[in-house]
Order: sequence, then C-alpha cells, then structure tokens
Amino acid sequence: MNNYITCIECGHYPVSIISLCPKCSKNPYGHICRFCNAKVTDSEAILSKENIRSQCMRYDFYGELHNDGYIEEVKVYHYHQRCFNDINTIEYICHSCSSLHTKFSNSCLNCGQIFSYEICDFCRLLVIKELAVKVEIDLLDEIKYFHPICTGKIRRKLEALADYKARLDEERKQKEVEESIKKQRREQRKLRNLIWILYGFFL
Ligand SMILES: [Zn+2]
Ligand SMILES: [Zn+2]
Ligand SMILES: [Zn+2]
Ligand SMILES: [Zn+2]
Repeated sequence: MNNYITCIECGHYPVSIISLCPKCSKNPYGHICRFCNAKVTDSEAILSKENIRSQCMRYDFYGELHNDGYIEEVKVYHYHQRCFNDINTIEYICHSCSSLHTKFSNSCLNCGQIFSYEICDFCRLLVIKELAVKVEIDLLDEIKYFHPICTGKIRRKLEALADYKARLDEERKQKEVEESIKKQRREQRKLRNLIWILYGFFL
C-alpha cells in the first residue's frame, strides 16, 4: 500500500498520510466540499459550523429506558469559495424597506428586519424560507427545505423517494384487493355452511 500522497496545497510529494506537509506545514488532504463533493484545500475552504443537539437515550441493566439529556456536537462543513457564492447568490426584496439583497443575509442590511430562514437539508447553509424549495417527505411526515440550486443535487434521491412511495402505494392497493377477495370467499363459505346447516335441519 502506498502511504504517501501529494500535498493538495503545494503539490509537494511525498507526504506521509499521517502528517502535515513538511514543505508548507498544511493539511495535505484538504476536505470534501459539502456542495460539489470535490476536494477543497484548507486555505481556500469556507467553513460553516452547525450545532447538532441529539437526545441521548440509554437502556439500563434492567432494560428500562433512560433519558440522559442531550449531547451537543459541532459539525464543520467545508465549501469552495465559488460553491459558497453560488449557493448564497439570491434575489430577495425586503418586505419592510424594499431594498434588494443579492447575497444571503439573515436580516435586512438596510433596515435590520429579520428574514425567516431554514437550514438547507442538502448543503446545511441557511436559506431564506420564501426562496426555499419545500419538499414534503410523507414517509417521515416532515418538510425539508432546499436552495433552488441544491435541488438539482438531490433530484435523484427525490426520484428514488417518489418511486419508493409509489411502490408502497401499489403494494397497499394490491393488499386491499387481496383482502377483499379473501373477505368475499369467507362470506361465500359462511353462506355455504349456513345452507348446509339449514339443509340438514330440514332433512
Ligand atoms: Zn504542502
Ligand atoms: Zn465545491
Ligand atoms: Zn429592509
Ligand atoms: Zn443548499
């Protein structure tokens, strides 16, 4: 196995896979851009942090469930400058003062009005709610928000989800048909038994 890579920052080779680059002393791997999935260097990357709070459940010795509170975790996402700019290029007019915004901001740069926003479920950056593409995920009974530009990235996932929903629907219908046939048969059988009982009674 080759344990050496070429430094993504300065092109130096070889760099051991377990150390910083000996020439530029930077991270030789870089990171994966959350938007385009390609590598981005430490020096170019735009960072975004997200606090993720998740409930911590635990079973004790007796099999009882306990709530151990919450754990906070900070996730760091990386983006190319150009990807970050593409995601955050908007056209949005403030409802209070009518000033035009061409870059994302969570409040009006002119009058301070707070815009309502959500987290894009694909790139994890904020998106103004009014501009977001809303996708209802029936199966999970929730709404997810996306930047219009991010929906292209998830089209295949959404199509797969739609396929899955269609298949579930199809199976449900099939089951209903089978159930109704079974029910019909049961009733026919009951009727036949009844006829036999009556027949025997009168015989
Ligand atoms: Zn280097
Ligand atoms: Zn990128
Ligand atoms: Zn305003
Ligand atoms: Zn996005």
